[in-house]
Amino acid sequence: MRISIVGTGYVGLVSGACLADVGHEVICVDMDPAKVDMINSGRPTIHELGLAEILARTVGKTLRATADLDRAVRDTDVTFIAVGTPARDGRIDLGYVRAAAAEIGRALKVKPGYHTVVVKSTVIPGTTDHVVRQAVEDASGRAAGAGFGLGMNPEFLTEGRAVEDFSKPDRIVIGGFDERSRQVVGGIYERFDGAPRIFTNNTTAEFIKYASNAALATAISFANEISRLCRSVGDVDVVDVMKGVHESIYFTTRLPGHGPVVAPITSFLEAGCGFGGSCLPKDVTALVGQGRDLGLDLPLLSAVLAVNRGQPDEMLRLVDAHIPDLRDVSVTVLGIAFKPDTDDVRESPAFPLIERLKARGARVTAYDPVARPAGHDALQGVTLAGSLEDAVASADAVLLVTRWAEFGRLADVLAQSGRQPLVVDGRRMLDGSRFARYEGIGRSMLAGGRDAG
Ligand code: NAD
Repeated sequence: MRISIVGTGYVGLVSGACLADVGHEVICVDMDPAKVDMINSGRPTIHELGLAEILARTVGKTLRATADLDRAVRDTDVTFIAVGTPARDGRIDLGYVRAAAAEIGRALKVKPGYHTVVVKSTVIPGTTDHVVRQAVEDASGRAAGAGFGLGMNPEFLTEGRAVEDFSKPDRIVIGGFDERSRQVVGGIYERFDGAPRIFTNNTTAEFIKYASNAALATAISFANEISRLCRSVGDVDVVDVMKGVHESIYFTTRLPGHGPVVAPITSFLEAGCGFGGSCLPKDVTALVGQGRDLGLDLPLLSAVLAVNRGQPDEMLRLVDAHIPDLRDVSVTVLGIAFKPDTDDVRESPAFPLIERLKARGARVTAYDPVARPAGHDALQGVTLAGSLEDAVASADAVLLVTRWAEFGRLADVLAQSGRQPLVVDGRRMLDGSRFARYEGIGRSMLAGGRDAG
């Protein structure tokens, strides 16, 4: 099929590359000419495992990029909208989606024949059938259904393993304004074997995406709330508590003749310094905002966000127990990306933590193996180190924010440097017994825990 994709961010570029890789003819569209040039020269604009290899196979063959949206729509049969949907002032900002839909509509005004518009961006329930439909209809002079197809196909990929997730999806949700729209979208995924297909209407498709993300965010904040209580009670470690929870038959299945099968949701039922990224914070915020607009309070989801906002303070509480006055104290933050294996720093818990450290007079150094967000406001006055060794060379305290595998070397690096800074483990990935002074999120403080490890 001939497919155009508007927006070449994490979702648009990975979708475009993977669809081109299975034989579709794909045109990626972006308003940013630098991204277009990079893609056309086969260079990934984002850090994702396997993406460079797919671009090498497809660019110039089944994949190309352009800034000319009008032309891309005219040269294809289906157009995906994969632009950003940020949260602004507690609500979803549909500005990019509206603009893209109107541009597609203008192209359709002069393009003969049936064309299908598919929303891939995460949009609050009702957006495709109301906002997008209206924008395309107004600009094209055509009616949804007879004049053009309208589908909603949410994306569930996770950054850091986006190519793998897109190529081997756990489910393919296909919403449609009508049967014909669903058939077109379903046809695109014919070559993706094995994944269950959920055919539904557009609003249900939109809702499935939000309910999925809200469930994951709730699991994280639940574990973090439990971890706060663990920290305060004494003689208890949230890691041990959660291990016990994970052994429940609801999370771990034991089949005769097989070892235990642990449900992946358990990785969300673990304490940490908070969730970030371009999805969970903004999507839960958007749902709460939609509820508010409909006169509905969503106390559970509001609390999920409130717990998350407080996690950087949990890190600081652990620091305070050892170093109450941070003026002129040298603090190193390990990890700027919101999670490992990605360069995405959007809504990373590193930023509010760094802001708080700076406000209290600390001298902050930050290090990330991949992310290089030099222009970010929170990083004003922060030294960006080029290696783990440099980052901790003069640290009085080291705060681990992102679960990068490289940070597993921290104990060895400190041993070699001869320094013994306070180490605060925001992801509970380190062996505490290897540090002179160690605190972990959700662990009773100052040797209040069972052991040092
Ligand atoms: P992004 O911000 O990385 O990329 C969006 C791209 O769209 C940018 O390159 C921008 O230049 C381009 N763009 C915006 N308006 C345009 C227009 N009118 N014409 C051409 N290009 C335009 O966004 P993303 O992270 O890829 O997310 C896109 C959507 O997918 C969001 O709704 C997000 O919630 C959803 N989503 C993201 C992820 C993720 O892990 N990043 C996962 C699932 C769903």
